Amino acid sequence: MFDSHCHLHDARMREITAQAVARAEQSGLRGLLLAGVDRESWPLQDTLRRAFHSPHFAIGVAYGVHPQSIPELTVEQLPAQLTALREAALGRLTCDGKTLLPPHAIGELGLDSYTEQTRAALPAQVTAFRDQLALARELDLPVVLHILRTHPESLRLLKQDGLPKSGGVIHSYSGSAQQARQYLALGLHLSFAGGVTRPNAPRLWAALQEVPDDRLLVETDAPDQTPWPHRPALCEPSFLPAVIASVALIRKQSPQHIATITCRNAQQLFRLEPL
Ligand SMILES: [Zn+2]
Repeated sequence: MFDSHCHLHDARMREITAQAVARAEQSGLRGLLLAGVDRESWPLQDTLRRAFHSPHFAIGVAYGVHPQSIPELTVEQLPAQLTALREAALGRLTCDGKTLLPPHAIGELGLDSYTEQTRAALPAQVTAFRDQLALARELDLPVVLHILRTHPESLRLLKQDGLPKSGGVIHSYSGSAQQARQYLALGLHLSFAGGVTRPNAPRLWAALQEVPDDRLLVETDAPDQTPWPHRPALCEPSFLPAVIASVALIRKQSPQHIATITCRNAQQLFRLEPL
């Protein structure tokens, strides 16, 4: 099993990071990807990668500027973060005397119109989205996309600008089956989070059934999106088997099969050594 998207570097997990990694290993996970949020998150991700990556457990990292972070950035801070992202992606960004290891992917990037605050920042989100997409294409790094309530606009931008050759993933997929087919036609992977474990999510289940085995990923998005059976606990990567169980049930495949293919897909997409 591989958790293709989580935030162990989130402040809510700071006290329990080591235990969360240990519990993930005990649950049978072979690794996880830490998704970036903003410049402040990148050195924390680098620290976790150096501390917990081992021959038994792979830590992948994505650096990006999350669409939900953009409303909090000033007009000067956003371009400065995008410049810093280029340096980080090239393995040249130094924070507190330490040069960050280059990432496995660019992200999270995308568009989010979930709240009034994010909706108001959509023009800046579009700029940051296209800028990060261009960087990923230039360096041929896969992208980790966050797309919430903006699927038509995002599809339009992705088709217009193009994806890196190494592709990418829509994390915590939330669109329709018809939109899923369009993302798949662009060569993207789709990753499913705790939403699939809800007792009634027919739209998401229909989308899940569209995804071929070689494009499917699973994630916890920890510390958010706790799978239904574990509520109300804070979400952590060791809850991934609950997501896999629901995915298997809906796709009429075995949990073992889902675990195997999603682990292999993540290792290939993020170019992590198979463990
Ligand atoms: Zn995330």
